[in-house]
Amino acid sequence: MTGTLRKPADLVAAGLIPAERQAELDEVARRFSVAVTPAMAALIDPNDPADPIATQFIPDARELDTAPEEMADPIGDHAFEPVKGIVHRYPDRVLLKPLHVCPIYCRFCFRREDVGPAGATLTNAELDAAIAYIRSRPEIWEVIVTGGDPFLLSARRLKTIMAALESIPHVAVIRFHTRIPVVAPERVGPALVKALFSEKAVYVVVHANHPRELTPAMKVAVQRIGKAGIPLLSQSVLLKGVNDTPVVLEALLRGLVAMRVKPYYLHHGDLARGTAHLRTGLAEGREVMRALRGRLSGIAQPIYVLDLPGGHGKVPVGPCYARESGEGWSIEDPQGNTHRYPPKE
Ligand SMILES: *Cc1c(COP(=O)(O)O)cnc(C)c1O
Repeated sequence: MTGTLRKPADLVAAGLIPAERQAELDEVARRFSVAVTPAMAALIDPNDPADPIATQFIPDARELDTAPEEMADPIGDHAFEPVKGIVHRYPDRVLLKPLHVCPIYCRFCFRREDVGPAGATLTNAELDAAIAYIRSRPEIWEVIVTGGDPFLLSARRLKTIMAALESIPHVAVIRFHTRIPVVAPERVGPALVKALFSEKAVYVVVHANHPRELTPAMKVAVQRIGKAGIPLLSQSVLLKGVNDTPVVLEALLRGLVAMRVKPYYLHHGDLARGTAHLRTGLAEGREVMRALRGRLSGIAQPIYVLDLPGGHGKVPVGPCYARESGEGWSIEDPQGNTHRYPPKE
């Protein structure tokens, strides 16, 4: 197995893109980071121009086009950074970003202007300052460790972070957001799992977008985490040509639940620069969610959310089945029929 592919020339050599596309993709790569792990390269069918794995990770010349509504900081994180590496938007929880490096670079990433192999990694002093901020704010109940991908950290670094959070009495929950169990499952070994051990509640949220990502190796990785007593959740991004049909999304969500991973969020695509070709409309997302209601187990249903531009937070934007009408309510059932429901006296 070769290593991670880090530039268009590597993608050409691996047979994943034709040589004539290299020049334009070199231009994309100067603008946005590129990396494709061996696990994901192995899933790509180079003969399929619409391959859903390639769509997520292989750069595309359309990334050089910026739509007028697109932004460098699409969800307004930068306005909520009291100290480096912390985003504090909601009172009870913060993001802690120890590094801005990923094993793979998703073409639709909302942090695509911040992440990369040269992306910022907190120094010891900066990490201490971030921890000191969390310690000084008793309202912080949960710390969400993200990045970059926090599972790229050494087990030793993770243990340092865990021990620091462990020592803060008001922190009850430590949540990790990662793509590593999917894109580099071989990294989820005993040392990493051991580093996650805590007396506090630890959750791991895995990012997966297409059923083909749910490989046997990924299953082994999530089982290792699950066996350590850590509940697993998933997040997915709704992506045009990848998972924007009920059939594909249903297969993804069923596959996750069957691996004991509870679907948490389905994110509407953020307005990151150069990602218009990967976004759907909100109406299409609601239609897909509506199709899943009634035919897919309730525990497999994610919440469809939009992270509002400007830093106003995440809000559910899925279909709504109840509306007030006359005296009482009109409620739609999963088949699309409406029913009267009485008002409360
Ligand atoms: C997404 C996000 C969270 C976590 O939100 P949940 O709804 O709890 O998953 C927390 N802080 C920031 C800044 C976020 O963007």
